[in-house]
Amino acid sequence: MREQGNKSNISTISELYVISNNNQWREYALCQDKPYELYFPQKRKNKTKYTNRNYYEAQELCLHCPVKFECLAFAVSNKLSFGTFCLPATERKKIKITTDLKSFIKKVIQRRDIMETKFNPDGSLLNKRCVQCHRKTKHFYFDAGGWSALRNQCVDCAIEIQQNKKSYHRRYSESNPKFDEWGVLISKICTKCKKRHKTDQYAKRVAGIGGRTSWCRKCVAFHTKQWEIKNKK
Ligand code: SF4
Ligand SMILES: [Zn+2]
Ligand SMILES: [Zn+2]
Repeated sequence: MREQGNKSNISTISELYVISNNNQWREYALCQDKPYELYFPQKRKNKTKYTNRNYYEAQELCLHCPVKFECLAFAVSNKLSFGTFCLPATERKKIKITTDLKSFIKKVIQRRDIMETKFNPDGSLLNKRCVQCHRKTKHFYFDAGGWSALRNQCVDCAIEIQQNKKSYHRRYSESNPKFDEWGVLISKICTKCKKRHKTDQYAKRVAGIGGRTSWCRKCVAFHTKQWEIKNKK
């Protein structure tokens, strides 16, 4: 019988190491008939062969792959610093030998979804949220090891990181959100009362920063009531 790394009791790199280096798992790879460059994006003459949506969908396929843990263990244990092996290379860098892969993947996907990546009909990027300044923009540098072959930080933030200084033309989000290391919202400033509140003080809103509304619950309740009084008169 085929051994599978996604058994619930086997989930760290050290436990998967032997299985991942036995090449049998490759027979079950969902990507085996896919073009190589979908998993190893390259830029030639300022263009990539596939669209950002193509890369995103290829990465999404990995999450349904029956040998994703073996694939991930293979890449991490062999220190492969390029390409998509279950996760893009940039995400794999954070994995340690003792990391619980199941919860790691879950949290990485949560953080990816916070970026709310959207595409144009032609497959190019429409916009996504920068993980640094939290604005939605379409300006991201190419990154062979990133989600949809793009960096997680917008161009302005990437330049700032590179030059190690603040750029003057960049606007930060008014709500100045704070996220934990997994990209889950801890707190942000209510854009109405201008006070900082914890996440549970905001109602859920998929399109809001951190998946929450911009106004805190108190402000929403107060202003809804005011509106009702005004409109009853
Ligand atoms: S996880 Fe992705 S890259 Fe790895 S074998 Fe499966 S489809 Fe291929
Ligand atoms: Zn940014
Ligand atoms: Zn408020």
